[in-house]
Amino acid sequence: KKEKKALFVIFGGTGDLAQRKLYPALFNLYKRGYLKKHFAVIGTARRPWTNDYYRDVVKSSIDGMVDSQTKINEFASHFYYQSHNVNDVEHYETLKALADKLDAKYELAGNRLYYLAMSPRFFGTISKYLKSEGLADTDGYNRVIIEKPFGRDYQSAKELDDEISKYFSEEDVFRIDHYLGKEMIQNIMALRFSNSILSAIWNNKMISNIQVTLSESLGVEERGGYYDTAGALRDMVQNHILQIVALLVMDRPASYCAKDVRQKKVETFKALKVYSPEEVKANFVRGQYGEGKDMPAYREENLIEPDSMTETFVAGKLEVNNKEMAGVPIYIRTGKRMATKATRIDIVFKQDKGSIYGEQALADNILTINVEPDPGIALSLNTKKIGQEYATKKTELKNSLTKEQAARVPEAYESLILNVLQGNSVNFTHWDELKYSWKFLDAIRKAWDEEGLPVDYFPNYSCGTMGPQISDELLAKDGNYWIFN
Ligand code: NAD
Repeated sequence: KKEKKALFVIFGGTGDLAQRKLYPALFNLYKRGYLKKHFAVIGTARRPWTNDYYRDVVKSSIDGMVDSQTKINEFASHFYYQSHNVNDVEHYETLKALADKLDAKYELAGNRLYYLAMSPRFFGTISKYLKSEGLADTDGYNRVIIEKPFGRDYQSAKELDDEISKYFSEEDVFRIDHYLGKEMIQNIMALRFSNSILSAIWNNKMISNIQVTLSESLGVEERGGYYDTAGALRDMVQNHILQIVALLVMDRPASYCAKDVRQKKVETFKALKVYSPEEVKANFVRGQYGEGKDMPAYREENLIEPDSMTETFVAGKLEVNNKEMAGVPIYIRTGKRMATKATRIDIVFKQDKGSIYGEQALADNILTINVEPDPGIALSLNTKKIGQEYATKKTELKNSLTKEQAARVPEAYESLILNVLQGNSVNFTHWDELKYSWKFLDAIRKAWDEEGLPVDYFPNYSCGTMGPQISDELLAKDGNYWIFN
């Protein structure tokens, strides 16, 4: 049956994530019939809101998504607010009483889903009290969804995981990486594992290099306090970029199920080469934006120290030593205040060796996966140049989603929350993936922290560009270049 029965308890129910992502996602699940009669949502946070006020907030967060057929008031009537301080054990009793009441009222079969849309420093406390106060003691399932950042290095991630896993088993912990909920990211496996013409050439004999770019045009905005202690490496590379890389280079899983896919991903993370300090220097570069195009430098932003050495840009070369991909450079790049907002993957194939046209240069064969904007794929080939002389030219086969198709693409959070309702972890990160990804990252962070750059090393790129020149040089050293520019 399509309809899912569950009680959602959203910790941080008044927060930004809840309003911008979670309520719209729940509304879409409602519109599509996954949530119907048998669901309820408890929003909890410290503020003393009433149910009515909370429902108005929920309604305004989905403003613009409502069509004439949807009964917005009926949807909002499933939402309840409970003021709650997560450190206060007594509050869990109140929460449990409300949860039990709603369970009976909406016939939810004891299924509960706890969304921790709060700072990770509360995750341990919440997990503990959910168990000790009996909230998570029902006949149905009890699943926890947690958000990034999952630690700031291996040690803190491990401590966080130890705390949560005392109370919830791995299969009930859903670590969100919202990139894994994106349609075109999920398309990577479809492309790789259902096309013989691609799977046959997806190896180090045929692939020259792989490029992953997650560029943002925004600056640090309101998140300065957090961002300045994190930096681009922790904020984007450890999670989103490494997850994308894993999907691009992992071996073929036995099936599209969580166990098989995650097993292959874990193997990939294990095979990711951890760099020595010298190798970090040779393979990773960082940047920080300076002013440009009428936008201020990072160091002039709100809540940022005027001599901050935090990186807002990272580019690097990764190596994964598995059988098929060993030796293929995997270039990654992410940054703020870059020229455009885009997520894009380029698979660059080796050139045809047997060119029969003499000296004439061939274009690279490139498979591009455009994640956003303009989701779709493109493949560039050499074809004959029209005319009498025998020469080749680059031709691009391009497929973008039509407007109608794009409108049908679910939002990442919608797909992922549905996965949790289904108990399907395929698009969530296993602790073992995190473990290895942090070890890889820690080596870079440590080498950088010990390197001690002069303060005037930054800024080294201007707002509205594709990053510092050292990022181009990183590829040029290997005779390569950024395809996306
Ligand atoms: P936010 O500051 O907007 O919301 C935090 C919420 O926690 C508020 O509802 C606040 O009332 C509540 N809260 C704080 N202390 C509390 C306490 N002691 N007891 C009860 N409630 C308390 O934060 P956010 O942007 O919604 O982010 C939430 C989490 O999601 C963070 O871990 C963040 O890193 C992560 N995240 C957010 C986004 C996003 O787009 N906002 C994206 C990725 C990850």
